[in-house]
Amino acid sequence: MYNRSYNFSAGPATMPVPVLEEIRDEMLNYRGSGMCVMEMSHRSKVFQQIFDEAEADLRKLMGIPDNYKVLFIQGGATLQFSMLPMNLMKNGVADYIVTGAWSKKAFKEAQKFGDVKCVASSEDKNFSYLPDCSDLPIRENADYVYICENETIHGTTFQKLPNTKGKILVSDQSSMFLSKPCNVSDYGVIYGGVQKNIGPAGISIVIIREDLIREDLDPKTPVYMRYDTHAGAGSMYNTPNCWAIYVCGKVFRYLLNNGGLEAMAAYNEKKAKVLYDYLDSSKMFNGTVEKEFRSLMNVPFVTGSKDLDAEVVAYTKAAGFDNLKGHKSVGGLRASIYNAMPIEGVEALVECLKKFEAEHK
Ligand SMILES: *Cc1c(COP(=O)(O)O)cnc(C)c1O
Repeated sequence: MYNRSYNFSAGPATMPVPVLEEIRDEMLNYRGSGMCVMEMSHRSKVFQQIFDEAEADLRKLMGIPDNYKVLFIQGGATLQFSMLPMNLMKNGVADYIVTGAWSKKAFKEAQKFGDVKCVASSEDKNFSYLPDCSDLPIRENADYVYICENETIHGTTFQKLPNTKGKILVSDQSSMFLSKPCNVSDYGVIYGGVQKNIGPAGISIVIIREDLIREDLDPKTPVYMRYDTHAGAGSMYNTPNCWAIYVCGKVFRYLLNNGGLEAMAAYNEKKAKVLYDYLDSSKMFNGTVEKEFRSLMNVPFVTGSKDLDAEVVAYTKAAGFDNLKGHKSVGGLRASIYNAMPIEGVEALVECLKKFEAEHK
């Protein structure tokens, strides 16, 4: 109806059409306020209500306990790579599990702020698996243990959380946020940029246990980089990204109205299976990740030939499938199949790949 392509982008990524339609309908005059949400004061009653509903809906969706704060902070997930160590390092010690490009970046950034050690890595096989995290040399005085729970570029997901030996677990959930139920109390901090699986780029959501929000930080810590600043001001110390918060709120409500995270998990499993089953049966394409660690959200695959990979990307693009080129560190193709990608899109992609394979025997 809108002539939209199936968009397999890793982020910013496809969004639910009913949400886009609702936003369209409210664009010029949000519910009789006489203006667009983009034009509103963040201090207005009408925006405060949008904000409060968004937070309440997210709390309901994820079952976030009362002793956790939900913060909406600008700077994307990347800002959190430095904000986390700046705020959580009481002893100046943290242990990182490095399983792909994003945890590696976070690890490198954190090293600026203290004694930061990599306690497990899968870099020896280009991050195509997850290391055994059941008995790691977590340090006695580690302030936290860090993971990227779904590696967007390398396509791995933790099926089981690491044994942190009682230390606080911090998880980057950017590319799996709201893709399945999450037991928030297993974590000290969950955070993620929203432009992968939720809404428009421009904010990250930080879910943090209240007792981890410290005031006794290095006095030189920039005010914007302190969790207590954001927590104390209801995420409105300065002008927040009102638009992104509004759109995220729409997505939260949409998910609540469509069965919540249990339903999303079932749908995502069914959807990913369509693609993985094909990859496993194909003689041309191979998934790059060891089976037991495969992500339901980001599916990298290769033909084994760079030229052929490029040909497939061009072929799928011409057929209406967008953004399938793999990240340069893995090569080949990558299909990001977040919550909002309909199963029909994955089925159609598989048909297209099958056709390509048949034509190139
Ligand atoms: C995209 C991504 C980031 C970086 O997000 P920005 O919002 O662009 O800073 C960090 N971690 C993961 C897992 C990602 O997928």
